[in-house]
Amino acid sequence: MTRPRILIVEDEADIRRFVRLALEREEMTVFEASTAAQARIDAGTRRPDLLIVDLGLPDYDGKTLIREVRTWSAAPTLVLSARDHEEEKVSALDAGADDYLVKPFGVPELLARVRAQLRRSSLLSAAGQASSTVRFGKVEVNLATHETWRDSEPVHLTPIEFRLLSALIRGRGKVLTHKQLLNEVWGSGYADRPHYLRIYMSHLRQKLEDDPIQPKHLMTELQVGYRIAGI
Ligand code: CA
Repeated sequence: MTRPRILIVEDEADIRRFVRLALEREEMTVFEASTAAQARIDAGTRRPDLLIVDLGLPDYDGKTLIREVRTWSAAPTLVLSARDHEEEKVSALDAGADDYLVKPFGVPELLARVRAQLRRSSLLSAAGQASSTVRFGKVEVNLATHETWRDSEPVHLTPIEFRLLSALIRGRGKVLTHKQLLNEVWGSGYADRPHYLRIYMSHLRQKLEDDPIQPKHLMTELQVGYRIAGI
């Protein structure tokens, strides 16, 4: 396998260095940019497999950069955000970022997120639409026939429950914001109703998780949205 190419966009030299050393130890090639303007050039010339983008950049907003790169590149984006900037993080995900890390973060957390994104994008490009059957834990879902089984027993899901589950499955490896899920499942105009999601996620957990109170697959991202884990 060729070495994954990572572009880190961050104005703080210490964090850039920390990320670069951690990724180079894992046999990755790392490019550094300290401004959004530089990152825009590097994203085009270096062709990274993944971008790590700090949201607070000196020239312009990391979100603007993500939205721009998203128009011509399929490379996943991992956002670095400061604690207590929930709204910023959420709008970056809505702009097309795939996941986020809250500063300060450790090496294991960084590597886990980076590997998950690289795995996800190589799976997506290798398999195209892949098979329509997906498994997590004891659950099996057929996205084509809309059938769901748990422990080989059929599970009845309502149309809304199934739409929500398949939105999570299609977005596997990503954090999906409340707004994205509400849009996808209920349509535009429902963005202000995150309580719908709470209710339907709890139905899905009751039906699919071993312990609905401590889910292993249908995960909450506090203040942000949801993700599916363990596919
Ligand atoms: Ca910064």
